[in-house]
Amino acid sequence: MGHNILCYLYKRSVTYIVLHKYGRCLGLWKRNMRPYGGLMQIKVDNGRLLATEYKPPYVSDVHGPLRPKKVFSISINKSKNRTEILCLHGYGEAHPGSIEFETEESDVVFKCCQMSSHAHPKGSSVELSIMIKKETNNHTIPFTIDDQKRLECYMKNVPKYRLTRIEVQRPDPVYPIQPGLFLAHYSAHGIEMFLLKYDMNKKEAEVIKITGDPNVPAGETSIYINLRKPMQLTKDQQLDVNSLLLLEEEDIPDSDDVQPRNQPFVIPPGFSTFLDDFTPTTCEYRNKTLFIYRYFARGRIAGDDYRDPDLISVHFVPFEAHDVFFVLWFKFWDMDGFYRIKDFNI
Ligand SMILES: [Zn+2]
Repeated sequence: MGHNILCYLYKRSVTYIVLHKYGRCLGLWKRNMRPYGGLMQIKVDNGRLLATEYKPPYVSDVHGPLRPKKVFSISINKSKNRTEILCLHGYGEAHPGSIEFETEESDVVFKCCQMSSHAHPKGSSVELSIMIKKETNNHTIPFTIDDQKRLECYMKNVPKYRLTRIEVQRPDPVYPIQPGLFLAHYSAHGIEMFLLKYDMNKKEAEVIKITGDPNVPAGETSIYINLRKPMQLTKDQQLDVNSLLLLEEEDIPDSDDVQPRNQPFVIPPGFSTFLDDFTPTTCEYRNKTLFIYRYFARGRIAGDDYRDPDLISVHFVPFEAHDVFFVLWFKFWDMDGFYRIKDFNI
């Protein structure tokens, strides 16, 4: 009994020492790796801090689980009685790493100090084929040129993780859909991760890229939503893409006071989507005071390497009851579904 209490107290104090110095590492992080970015979570795990990188689900299943990879840990080495930062990459034992705070470019930088431990014992070609097998879910989905470029970037950046904190806003009934992290299938670029956040003073919201691609990199805003511009469109209006294409922000009156009513929702004919069988048919209102609209928004487009970035008119259609929002890109006859990430508690 006494021994157990001592063990417990020891574990508590070890956690305390680690937390005292490195507690500010806890939370969600965006990886600064142009253009692809990445999502990291650092949490307490068995008396240590554990950093895990989460890749999006396989492209064949947007509702599938995120793919976790342990990257580094911070713990107390009991025999040496000092903090130990370990890199968990590679195929052998955990090995030394280092952490720096608040460099010019990032809040936290993790570095591997022993890259020799990353080599696969059977050589780099075996390692590459293992990685491709992983990326293609055992060769069940194609390995594209985009995938190859992304993998090359990941491999080049394995020794160094530069991280910027992701602040997820607390839930509040004032939002048309709650803020947080979402996944969407961005055509050839595959599944990407986004942060939805609000500025209710300005009545605006942004969908920021946590992962990105060679056109619009991670860290850039993909969608700017103007919450002052709610729209209630009839079914016929929604089917008339040519008229919607001409609709500009100025054409829609600012409105704080639109009578609550359900409005139909239809995907315009000829639009391509990556949606599954679920498509809501109404924008339902939620309770007595708040109701869901469709909002005018602007979507980011750009050439390769973020060349000539531009903003085009899109519509943002939230469905809070289903934890999903749609973005309609009229110019491209395309609609994206953004699904909330539910894999971990934020
Ligand atoms: Zn390492």
